[in-house]
Amino acid sequence: MIKKRNVISHQQKKLAGVLVAAGLTLSQTAEISGVSVRSVKRWYKAHKPNRSKKLKSMDKLFILFDLLKGTDFTKTSARLNLSPRKILSYLQDLNQKDIKIQKCANCQNIFLAEEIQRLCPFCLVARKL
Ligand SMILES: [Zn+2]
Repeated sequence: MIKKRNVISHQQKKLAGVLVAAGLTLSQTAEISGVSVRSVKRWYKAHKPNRSKKLKSMDKLFILFDLLKGTDFTKTSARLNLSPRKILSYLQDLNQKDIKIQKCANCQNIFLAEEIQRLCPFCLVARKL
């Protein structure tokens, strides 16, 4: 049996970073880049990119808006600069009962949100500008 190397080479680091950024899990990344999950995890923790942060509430609103419109989530992903995987896992974790269909008090747009709110995401953004 070949033991996996624990020392990550520069090339492996780069590869692991690309794979994680592409939305692969740490174990998939470990398998492909040939390093142990523990090493990938340790390295990843130290090099965590911004996109691994929790979704902002604004991002969630736009994801829900696109969902209502039937927009392909890969387009949502490109527009919000979030990995498709992140959007999918958010949608999977969503409790449908918590989603409320609402009408914007400003532009009359129909939108979805987890909380009751008066304004649609677009008007919220416009107001913050
Ligand atoms: Zn609005």
